Amino acid sequence: MVEKSAVRRVEKLSAVKGMNDILPPESARWEALEGIVRALMRRYAYENIRTPILEPTALFVRGLGEVTDIVEKEMYSFEDRLNGEALTLRPESTAGVVRAVVEHSLLYNGGKRLYYMGPMFRHERPQRGRYRQFHQIGAEALGFGGAEVDAELILMAHALWQELGLTDVALQLNSLGQPGERSLHRAALIAHFEQHVDVLDEEAKRRLHLNPLRLLDSKNPQMQGVIEAAPKLLDFLGDASKAHLERVTSILDANGVAYSINPRLVRGMDYYNLTVFEFVTTRLGSQGTICAGGRYDYLTEQIGGKPAPAVGWAMGVERVLELLKEQGAPADIAPIDAYAIVPDADALPKVMACLQVLRTQGVTVQMHAGTVDGMGSIKSQFKRADGSGARFALIFGADELAQGAVTVKSLRDGVGEQVTQVLDQAAQWAKSLQSTA
Ligand code: ATP
Ligand code: MG
Repeated sequence: MVEKSAVRRVEKLSAVKGMNDILPPESARWEALEGIVRALMRRYAYENIRTPILEPTALFVRGLGEVTDIVEKEMYSFEDRLNGEALTLRPESTAGVVRAVVEHSLLYNGGKRLYYMGPMFRHERPQRGRYRQFHQIGAEALGFGGAEVDAELILMAHALWQELGLTDVALQLNSLGQPGERSLHRAALIAHFEQHVDVLDEEAKRRLHLNPLRLLDSKNPQMQGVIEAAPKLLDFLGDASKAHLERVTSILDANGVAYSINPRLVRGMDYYNLTVFEFVTTRLGSQGTICAGGRYDYLTEQIGGKPAPAVGWAMGVERVLELLKEQGAPADIAPIDAYAIVPDADALPKVMACLQVLRTQGVTVQMHAGTVDGMGSIKSQFKRADGSGARFALIFGADELAQGAVTVKSLRDGVGEQVTQVLDQAAQWAKSLQSTA
């Protein structure tokens, strides 16, 4: 017994701003999506990887680039109190995956196709589709330089939208070329923006000479005109870079996947080269990118590994689920098969042994739980059984138990119909409780 006087009133605690509890029945949507993704990854031979949520801060500073939104202002970074290590809650997972691949020499025997799911952390202004803890599902193919793997990843994401029944998702593509091509473009960009310093905001002015490509990623409406008129990286591409993009698009064409080339698509991290892409929808307001990725052939070197080409994408789980909801997809909630009504607590040992057998056979069963004073009235137990959505009530009454039996009563189709089953033969009649749908 908990003594009332012992419970002191304390201030209520709530979740950290921008970080969400994912509750039932909403969590059923998450599980359903995760299940679909796992099966999809399996079909494309991508293997699961799980890296730590905390990484050394240097990984992101080096990997993502010092002059990026994430590193400049969005990271949850802190010093370990015990040893002073600089740590950061991962804002994305590509850098961590690459670190793990290098650390464990996963590419010794050729390329590796990997996928992950999990929470990411960015200190942004919370709004619809933008949270401080959010979730990504990502796929990375490391050790492959050919454009066919870029295309494979895009086809895989496209197949996912189709399987989920998502419409209104458009694919945008661009090429960021190679470092040499980028530096020519960079000079042209600086010259262009220098002629329009008057419309640049403070951040853009500061970044102009540090990382001018970042200006193209600005969401400042006042700057959109001058961004629109900026020299396009596509015009600076050499033959090899152009051929890479054409290989990707020809595979997409052959697969009937529509796309548009967006010469202003640059992505938020510095690690990208050649192919970059985003899947966008107009149905989620300004947070319309549901999945984004590209090639990052220089990241392994940047974090101390042997050079290895790579390409990947990450999708925002919250945004994908929001879009599904927006399109009226029903929540994927599996009903339970049976609710166990137990009038007398003394019967629990026998009852629970029977329920264990049913569950071994795959039956979903919820047992009535009472209080320390008892199990409660039959009437109140039936009310719970009805509220649970179960298709059957299992009535473990004294009369039934005395004969080694249990009454199975239908709560849904053919309400009220009931049969008696032998307790010890639960493994045999278990199947009759399971939905065939
Ligand atoms: P945005 O331009 O919307 O800030 P981003 O370029 O920073 O996106 P990425 O780092 O490419 O996003 O992450 C991949 C995907 O993860 C995004 O397309 C989006 O769906 C999702 N995502 C990114 N940041 C958030 C966030 N703060 N909250 C929810 N989802 C997010
Ligand atoms: Mg962002």
